[in-house]
Amino acid sequence: MRRYENRVVLVTGAGRGLGRAMAERFAAEGAKLALCDIDERAVKETTAGCATETRPSIVDVTDAAAVDGWIAGTAEEFGRIDVLVNNAGVIRDNRLERMTDDDWETVVGVSLRGMFHCCRAAFTAMKAAGYGRILSLSSMSWRGNFGQANYAAAKSGVIGMARTIALEGARHGVTSNVIAPGLIDTPMLASMNAAARAKLAAKVPRGHIGAPADIAEAAAFLCSETAGYVTGVVLDVDGGIGIGSSVR
Ligand code: NAD
Repeated sequence: MRRYENRVVLVTGAGRGLGRAMAERFAAEGAKLALCDIDERAVKETTAGCATETRPSIVDVTDAAAVDGWIAGTAEEFGRIDVLVNNAGVIRDNRLERMTDDDWETVVGVSLRGMFHCCRAAFTAMKAAGYGRILSLSSMSWRGNFGQANYAAAKSGVIGMARTIALEGARHGVTSNVIAPGLIDTPMLASMNAAARAKLAAKVPRGHIGAPADIAEAAAFLCSETAGYVTGVVLDVDGGIGIGSSVR
């Protein structure tokens, strides 16, 4: 399918993992891409793997001025903005008593403040065009997860913000949806404590950890033109782990 021909798609944190997989999928469906990351080498590597017109940028999503410049520059170069994927995220796990201010600020800053900066900057152009697709990455941890007070707070905040933007964008052709991934095989997952990871993996009803392509598949649907009546949705892509019962 070439659902993204003539569409301009922005992806944050596109240097590796899910951001890279989604960028490659949108490129395969014909999109022009604006990719950002704080890791220059990584975002250039992703760009090299996308056989389509791609604009790589070094942008820290916590920096509002840098985000404004990135999104305005993309609109100027490509003449439009159709899709924004808020993917950049980090983990700094610790039990509450040991969690530092920096652990909190970093995680909430990237996932939540970063999303706010990107949505605010892209929304005006989308509203003016009467068309837009915003997709934000939450996590199965939004429901709460041991050692992740910062991450769970950020990822449930992502849902509240995304649903609010869905309401504000509805009359303007702008949808806003969320994917809540379960355990997906990326460098972020590899950085998790191995024992905790193995324990969680054993609880996935589907029986295995997911692949980045599983998330890219859902993203390609939610951001497509024909998904215009789907908004404010939180889609679990998690092999069933979010269902709640792990008794098999
Ligand atoms: P990852 O760590 O493999 O990749 C994240 C990318 O974001 C990296 O390239 C990193 O350089 C970039 N990044 C970090 N801080 C940034 C910033 N301030 N500005 C711009 N870019 C920045 O992570 P991933 O596993 O691909 O996760 C992608 C998203 O999906 C994240 O929001 C994550 O919280 C979420 N998620 C992942 C999983 C999983 O199992 N992998 C599960 C649930 C949710």
